[in-house]
Amino acid sequence: MEFEIYVTHRYESHFCPLIPKLDLPKWPFKENSTFWHITDTHVDQNYSRSGNALNMCHKNPNIRRNNVDNGLYGNFLCDSPQYLINATILSMKYIQPTPDFIIWTGDNLPHSLDFIPDWDVTFEAIRNTTFMLRSSFPDITILPSIGNHDTFPPNILPTDTSANNIYKGYLEKGGWKDLIIENQWPTFVQGGYYSHLLKSGFRIISLNTILWYSPNNLTEKMPDPGNQFRWLEGLLKNSSRLSEKVYIIGHVPPGYYNRVNPGQKSDSTFHPQHLESYLKLLLKYSPVIVGQFYGHLHMDMFQVFQYDTEGAVPRGKHKKTRPAFTNDSQDLQKLLAKREHLLQSHNLNDNTDARIELNKINAEIKRKLLYAIQQLDFKKSPGPDGIHGQFIVNLGSCATKRFLHIFNLSWKLGRLPRQWKTAIVVPIRKPNKDASCMEAIDQLQSLA
Ligand SMILES: [Zn+2]
Ligand SMILES: [Zn+2]
Repeated sequence: MEFEIYVTHRYESHFCPLIPKLDLPKWPFKENSTFWHITDTHVDQNYSRSGNALNMCHKNPNIRRNNVDNGLYGNFLCDSPQYLINATILSMKYIQPTPDFIIWTGDNLPHSLDFIPDWDVTFEAIRNTTFMLRSSFPDITILPSIGNHDTFPPNILPTDTSANNIYKGYLEKGGWKDLIIENQWPTFVQGGYYSHLLKSGFRIISLNTILWYSPNNLTEKMPDPGNQFRWLEGLLKNSSRLSEKVYIIGHVPPGYYNRVNPGQKSDSTFHPQHLESYLKLLLKYSPVIVGQFYGHLHMDMFQVFQYDTEGAVPRGKHKKTRPAFTNDSQDLQKLLAKREHLLQSHNLNDNTDARIELNKINAEIKRKLLYAIQQLDFKKSPGPDGIHGQFIVNLGSCATKRFLHIFNLSWKLGRLPRQWKTAIVVPIRKPNKDASCMEAIDQLQSLA
């Protein structure tokens, strides 16, 4: 299967290197097959065209009305009007009425703090979308997952439901009995997770990520809330044995929030111990898991995990040794020469292989710069330009790119900027030595 992805903003190739052809498993459906992924609809029944954007665009007598018309479909700052969701589902049906399946990864209720539902209101909101999806796609498999805005109160879900039947509520009051097949109800009632064998050799696993979600303080201290890890590992082991391929769906993705200001520390989406356990499973069963689809972050994005495999992959004959990373200038000059040659001798617009090669070289050069920055001695005083090593380490991606450009130019021309050759020389008198025996320290600039 090939993914067609529509991205609304341009990425510079420098930051987004092309990935060489991957050896993907055979897609079990017919050529050009499709599926729908719908997520984070956040429908607000109190949406108002004159609602204030500071109040997610719904009416609140205590907040001044907005003079702007938010429109029939709302705007970027509003939660969704029901009209938008109706139009979205109708458009899905119009564009592709017979997808192979539909995944629906949660968050159906509004964000607003003014909205104080209870479980019945929560299930009613979920049931509305269940009904619309089921009636628009009567014969299509629709697989839901629970979001942090599908619970009451939001962000929290317990594991033990025998007393309050919360998970039964999704099936019975939320209408998910019409979506999840009966033989999967036992695990869903136990912890909100299940799997679905879509076709021989292809399974979809729907996780309840709210049990691992960092604000869920009910489960924070539990090593395996709702026994979901144990169940997941058993399922993946079985899929591996049967040569099945698996898609994982869920609401909250593993990893870290990446929409933070430069320099600000980003938080983990899961409790740290649950993130660790989950990443270990992903790594261990990566040949089985061929796709993962999540919601929650409200943007189209890919996530790539760099995982320290030392602890997770057994040492022995399978362990690959990595070549030691060197940063010698000859190596760098070779890369720059190769890059220059590619730029001169190929029309990169028509030549995918050359473009891939160029991106690999760019990534390697950037890696060398980042390595050199890591090696800076922060205890050193700055030179005449007053730029401390710590400033350089904290550069954002745009500044690093400019910085790299200056370095590459310097290597290419074989010349150093004059200022980089200027140093402050400080004579220091050594203890117990006379003043004629001075030691000099020179403070070159950190950039040099
Ligand atoms: Zn959301
Ligand atoms: Zn969410």
